[in-house]
Amino acid sequence: MQLGLIGYYSDFVVYPLAIALLGVVGLIEAGEESAPEWIGTVLVCLGLWTFIEYVLHRFVLHHVPYIRDLHDRHHVEERSRVGTPTWLSLGVHALIALPIWLLSDFATASAVGCGLMLGYLWYISVHHMIHHWHPAHPSYLYTLKRRHAVHHHLDDNANFGVTSLFWDRIFGTARL
Ligand SMILES: [Zn+2]
Ligand SMILES: [Zn+2]
Repeated sequence: MQLGLIGYYSDFVVYPLAIALLGVVGLIEAGEESAPEWIGTVLVCLGLWTFIEYVLHRFVLHHVPYIRDLHDRHHVEERSRVGTPTWLSLGVHALIALPIWLLSDFATASAVGCGLMLGYLWYISVHHMIHHWHPAHPSYLYTLKRRHAVHHHLDDNANFGVTSLFWDRIFGTARL
């Protein structure tokens, strides 16, 4: 939805704080012996995020009524503050982590939450930068900006991945 200035930038304050807090509490809960396993779970979920990002962009942002209309507006007005409110995205993360907590334990749920939230923060940060910054060529950010511009302006059936082109390559939607 259309966000105000505070609404748009609040993700960049709330998510680092939430990740740091959950990370500290989760690691304490996991204990020294289980710390490597906890970090491994975070990394796996960070990787899993790139797949979620691809699926959300390809099938939700481009096909679900209302969300599709908002996303269409982002395609045209790339710098307007159309986005997901922090309370909503945080709520979705909580809905994923809570059942894991109930079925498993807090340490595992916190690791999953940290991994997915890190991925989400990486995604919204990269997406903001490629629309508002002018990265030097060649660089990781420049490559992502060029590929995302192809998705915005040339072919909206290609390059659904924002942080990487990995899943586009797997599913045949990569366009360089
Ligand atoms: Zn965009
Ligand atoms: Zn799109």
